[in-house]
Amino acid sequence: MGLVWSDRYADHDTGPHHPERPARLSGIKERLAHAGVFTSTVPIAPAAVDLALVQRVHSAAYIERFRQRCEGELSYIDTQECPLCPRTFEVARLAAGGVLKACDEVMAGRVESAFCPVRPPGHHAETDRAMGFCYFNNVAIAAEYLRQEYRLGKVAILDWDVHHGNGTQHHFEADPSVLFVSLHQHPLTLFPGTGFEDEVGIGPGVGTTLNCPMMPGSTDEHYHRAFERQVLPRIAEFGPEFLLVSAGFDAHVDDPLAHVDLSTEAFEWMTVQAVRLMRELGRPRIVSVLEGGYNLDALADCILAHLQGYALPASR
Ligand SMILES: [Zn+2]
Repeated sequence: MGLVWSDRYADHDTGPHHPERPARLSGIKERLAHAGVFTSTVPIAPAAVDLALVQRVHSAAYIERFRQRCEGELSYIDTQECPLCPRTFEVARLAAGGVLKACDEVMAGRVESAFCPVRPPGHHAETDRAMGFCYFNNVAIAAEYLRQEYRLGKVAILDWDVHHGNGTQHHFEADPSVLFVSLHQHPLTLFPGTGFEDEVGIGPGVGTTLNCPMMPGSTDEHYHRAFERQVLPRIAEFGPEFLLVSAGFDAHVDDPLAHVDLSTEAFEWMTVQAVRLMRELGRPRIVSVLEGGYNLDALADCILAHLQGYALPASR
């Protein structure tokens, strides 16, 4: 089990009142350390992503605009929910780069899976704009990287962040080689307002997008049912060679930004399901990437539960 960690992920300073704040990592580090997270995992040191790899997902014009606005010390990009500090661009490069490094370690067989608690998150970032606390779409960049650098024919993305991963869906919606599966609070009740059941992909990509909108107040039981009836069968049928997880923890009952009521244990359960399925498919390669999760106590608990899920013995 690999773990990407860098204290520099806290250098993206979003100001005093922003939920996506440095303390999401710096404030839980001690708890993770106390639980043995740093001694029981293989450390993976991130490096800044090559911008040519980012360009497979984002336009050159957007990348340059993002760089210049940071350099010019402007206070935000595209929307005030995406604040900038002079280091944001470099930290965003380090976030995407950390995920690619994790993919390299898994592909090299040095670890079976890896977790990347990176900032800033990525799944709302669109081709040419920042959105929803996201600047570079870390998971989309990783899926493109696996497809092109490692020539993988099929990559699946499982997004259980409570918000719909609009940026990821839009990037791959016409691409039949990448399956995008998302569980999120119903779009009529939560940002970003996309991710309806009838969004199933376009053109050659029809059938490789699966949206499972969950009503406010949904519990573990509803997620179990969605996994068993829709999520797991669809991933199994697709037969991915690699699974990326957009692991947000904001569907937790104590999260302040949404109204889904998952327990901490639900995150262990979902992880176990993913690990077990990829092992059954004979391709036990998983890299999960932090997206949301804004109650620090719940976030730390859920990350520990997620890592516990990865510890599933091969025979179980
Ligand atoms: Zn979220």
